[in-house]
Amino acid sequence: MSKLVLNPGKERSLLRRHPWVFAGSVARLEGRARPGDTVEVVADDGRPLGRAAWSPESQIRARMWTFAPDVSIDHVFFKRRIAESVARRATHPLLANESGVRLIHGESDGLPGVIADRFGDVVVVQLTSAGAEKWRDAIVAGLVQATGCKAVYERSDSDVRKLEGLGPQTGCVYGELPQEALTIVENGVRMEVDVVAGHKTGFYLDQRDNRRLTGLLAAGRSVLNCFCYTGGFSLQALAGGATSVLSIDSSGPALEVARRNVACNPQLDAERAEWMEADVFAALRTLKAEARTFDLIVLDPPKFAPSAAHADRAARAYKDINLFGFRLLNPGGILMTYSCSGGIGLELFQKIVAGAASDSGVDARILHRLSAAADHPIGLAVPEGEYLKGLAVQVG
Ligand code: SAH
Repeated sequence: MSKLVLNPGKERSLLRRHPWVFAGSVARLEGRARPGDTVEVVADDGRPLGRAAWSPESQIRARMWTFAPDVSIDHVFFKRRIAESVARRATHPLLANESGVRLIHGESDGLPGVIADRFGDVVVVQLTSAGAEKWRDAIVAGLVQATGCKAVYERSDSDVRKLEGLGPQTGCVYGELPQEALTIVENGVRMEVDVVAGHKTGFYLDQRDNRRLTGLLAAGRSVLNCFCYTGGFSLQALAGGATSVLSIDSSGPALEVARRNVACNPQLDAERAEWMEADVFAALRTLKAEARTFDLIVLDPPKFAPSAAHADRAARAYKDINLFGFRLLNPGGILMTYSCSGGIGLELFQKIVAGAASDSGVDARILHRLSAAADHPIGLAVPEGEYLKGLAVQVG
């Protein structure tokens, strides 16, 4: 096996179990390795640090599979890691009745570059690193064995693959997708999941716990759900007894699924749901001009800042929608506001929201801090900013 020798002192982060080796930490590669090959990582003094996947094209030159120097990286390794990840979710009390569950969350589960979501009998896998790409067969076999699923569908079409020198890859890699639309039940509400054409793996599982909270807060309230996608927050609000729910998204296909979702939940009152295909930035201004107000507003935008380099522009965009969010709230109303931007940490996000509250002249108090869902164990070593963060803020 080739040896990846680090520059002096660069072993420190690995000793704290940070799973990435950046280009600037690499002194040399002894021997030859192709993208995705396993390399032995050693400190400048030869001390073994573990085994990693080599990725020469990426600024993250290697991602650690193990911090133990003597563990073989082979089919058995993936089978075990995957079985452990699946088992952690199987006994989690918040996931007991959920048919949509994230089974593997990359680095947090010791499997850098591997995302796997279960939607009923189908598992969707996304491979985003050279190492994960190399071990596709072992990963798929491990998933099938650990879950007993009927099909595994690959959605490796994320842009981050480009950074690893990888092109997109999608399609069924095990079994066959069911003919009829795939659905899950989330917090008691049936939701369609389009694993082929939907965003990411088809569904934003990371917001499940926050959608549940929305349902619990919605009784008797008028709700505005911005960036609604297929209506996850909207349907929870309807189920929770909202008096009306206006949902906005710029994607026509997502709104079509959202409408179907209401239709396939006969317990919900479709009359209370209004859907609007629009740009949220413009729609918020229109709503303000029409003097419309709401008791509960959800802002769950896409990633405005993928990295710290975009933080300034993103901060202005977050400020803008949160400012209008506060302006459209009735007294006693609640703003549930989120960011999934890697370039914006919780502290900065909280400052932006506080600034928006003060500029709109409301007296605001944090009701609840909201972060990634329970099946996203936050890897201690991975930057906190990479994860979903959010605040529920109540105004006076
Ligand atoms: N809250 C959703 C997930 C939101 S994902 C859930 O719980 O499932 C972000 C959504 O924002 C996507 O559906 C995307 O189509 C939409 N979007 C992105 N930019 C937008 C804009 N400027 N105006 C309206 N919608 C936008």
